[in-house]
Amino acid sequence: MQLALGIDIGGTSTKLALVDPSGNIVARAFFSTVERRDEDDFFHHLFETIEELLNGGEEIKGIGAGAPSANERQGTIENAANLPFSPKVEFGKTLYQRFGIPVHLVKDSNASTLGEWHFGAAKGMENFMLLTLGTGLGCGIVADGRLLGGEFGHGGEAGHVCVQPGGRACGCGRQGCLETYVSATGLKRTVFEIMANSMFDSPLRSISFEAMTARNIFEAASSGDILAKKSFEQTGEVLGLALADMAAWFEPAAVILSGGLATAGDLLFQPTIESLERHALAFHKGKIKVLPSALGENDAALLGAAALVWNSSGTW
Ligand SMILES: [Zn+2]
Repeated sequence: MQLALGIDIGGTSTKLALVDPSGNIVARAFFSTVERRDEDDFFHHLFETIEELLNGGEEIKGIGAGAPSANERQGTIENAANLPFSPKVEFGKTLYQRFGIPVHLVKDSNASTLGEWHFGAAKGMENFMLLTLGTGLGCGIVADGRLLGGEFGHGGEAGHVCVQPGGRACGCGRQGCLETYVSATGLKRTVFEIMANSMFDSPLRSISFEAMTARNIFEAASSGDILAKKSFEQTGEVLGLALADMAAWFEPAAVILSGGLATAGDLLFQPTIESLERHALAFHKGKIKVLPSALGENDAALLGAAALVWNSSGTW
């Protein structure tokens, strides 16, 4: 049986898996990305890990990879803030020269989107979006049965849609972007804003901004802390309004929420759905589902990367 090799390149680690056409993971491996000096050191470890994985003589049809700042058209990784790379790394070409099989590369958020589409919560859907709520907000969009790429390969950047003109400063240089409100970091910023503007007593007041995690806020909210609950409510309010706007653009059947913040469950989903329903256009009310990921963050990207091998023909 032929297999696909999926690769999920992250700032902390790079994960690899051999995947069959039904999405079953046959073998896994990983190595540290953060300990690599540069792209040469990275490729050295990547080649070594792939060769170990293929030790059993498995035949692979191709390689699919997801990476931050991937240029999907050129097969390059460009200006990735969290990777120890020079400004432009020829990922597709380098792997093709070494292994001589088709290589496919997509943005990390698109890899997760493809994973959910082929094997997870969006199976069979023609229109949906995936939002990954972690340190920032990643997004992938499938519209009318196609993964949205955009003219220059940067389409679907929902994290940088402005939800508050003149609002919070964003890493992209603009103000009021969605991810400054709806992400693990955005939730923390909301907690500190509510602290400054209210007298609510809360165990969160004794934790510094640097030390606080989304899990601290989740645990406080779960044990009834008003300040923490209000932070989730405000986050859901902003997210629901943004989703109602996005529904006006491309009318998804569902929005799938994944990433650390989405594991908060009802604390996030309930206010998000309430806000979406309140703000949605009349003909969208009651129609757009908000669903949790069916795969978990890590496997979604790995499986989606592998799915590229079975579902596209691009090669570098
Ligand atoms: Zn931004």
